[in-house]
Amino acid sequence: MAQLGEDSFAAGDRLMSVHEAVAALFARIRSVAEIEVVSLVEAEGRVLAEDLIAPIDLPGFDNSAVDGYAVRFDDLAQAAETVLDIGGRVAAGHELAAAKTLRRADLAGKAVRIFTGAAMPDGMDTVFMQEDCRDAEEGRVGLPPGLSRGDNCRLRGEDIRAGEAALAAGRRLRPEDLGLAAALGVDRLSVRRRLKAAIFSTGDEIVSPGAPLKPPAVYDANRFLLHGLLRRQGVEVTDLGVLPDDAAKIATALRAAALSHDLVLTSGGVSTGEEDHVKAAISDGGSLVFWRLAIKPGRPVAMGVIEGAPFVGLPGNPVAVFVTFAFIVRPLIAALSGARFQPLRAIPVKSGFAYQKKAGRREYVRVVLTRDAAGAIVAEKYGVEGAAVLTSLTRTQGFVELPEDVKKIAPGDPVNFIDYDLIR
Ligand code: AMP
Ligand code: MG
Repeated sequence: MAQLGEDSFAAGDRLMSVHEAVAALFARIRSVAEIEVVSLVEAEGRVLAEDLIAPIDLPGFDNSAVDGYAVRFDDLAQAAETVLDIGGRVAAGHELAAAKTLRRADLAGKAVRIFTGAAMPDGMDTVFMQEDCRDAEEGRVGLPPGLSRGDNCRLRGEDIRAGEAALAAGRRLRPEDLGLAAALGVDRLSVRRRLKAAIFSTGDEIVSPGAPLKPPAVYDANRFLLHGLLRRQGVEVTDLGVLPDDAAKIATALRAAALSHDLVLTSGGVSTGEEDHVKAAISDGGSLVFWRLAIKPGRPVAMGVIEGAPFVGLPGNPVAVFVTFAFIVRPLIAALSGARFQPLRAIPVKSGFAYQKKAGRREYVRVVLTRDAAGAIVAEKYGVEGAAVLTSLTRTQGFVELPEDVKKIAPGDPVNFIDYDLIR
């Protein structure tokens, strides 16, 4: 499952910006090459392997956008009501049924009763909505002035033309993409193989939920947080449980996982304290770059290669796991899975809080959005701080991202907000 060369990382033990880290990843990662052909229902969330070229025009024929009356624009009076004979009727999925005495060519100067999705009768180019029309005497309709040529008419190919790229390779397929493919008559798509990730928690104090808890133990939050985040990225997850703080055991487990997965993630055990077993385990085997990432919460993150598979050792604190997943693991998954990476689109809001930080690192403040009296969107900081506080994620909506150069924020300052929905 080799995706990376063993010599891929050589950044050294220095503080690295998130931007540098992501750029370094992109320069070094090869995506999974295997392609599968899957049905549309199986394709949701998968990464499209080849451009999808529209095989047909959409729509395939000129048709009405409303229920009403189709006419030739040239038959209308410019400034007054036009009263026309109703020369036929056409419903969606049916041929034009012209009045018995009329041949199709005789529809000039007539109106045709038409329904949404029905093909425009030959030569007709404009449709009146039925609610705008006046019932005139039997078999005739009054059409008000004011429409333009082509109104309420959907033209062949106006959505997409045969031969145009409908969906680009590298797109993570969304429900609306599948709707478009289906409308084009495509029932199967070529997608990249799913990534396989293995996850571990580490720590002598970590206990799986469901088991009895004897303080000073704590329940494992991270595996479940990571499992969900990975699944939402379309990754197949193997949950390998909790590892003790034992470098030999961690090294053995990581190597075994790396042989059968595209990506290995751990949490905990990467700090600069004494119990840095993950770092030691990797230093022994594969190659390691210990990235002290200039990010809060989230520092430190270990990153390396084991048996050719990329490895990320995330911090132990759950909020730090969430942040580093969002800004490091998510781009890594995109690169590995062949997806085109879209940087998170932050929206400008007003700060509702005062804040001080060190220059040189990026900080992510968990916030709830409210509105001020003038209707502007204001980000309010969650009351309890700390990278271990899980409710700072569950009771908030997103991050305010404070860039490296910012040292101080005052209430009312413009800040950038990143919704959690963009990450998940
Ligand atoms: P570490 O990086 O191993 O020193 O862990 C930092 C903090 O995160 C410690 O308080 C750990 O107990 C906590 N922690 C580590 N792993 C987990 C986990 N899987 N779930 C919840 N908390 C954790
Ligand atoms: Mg630990």
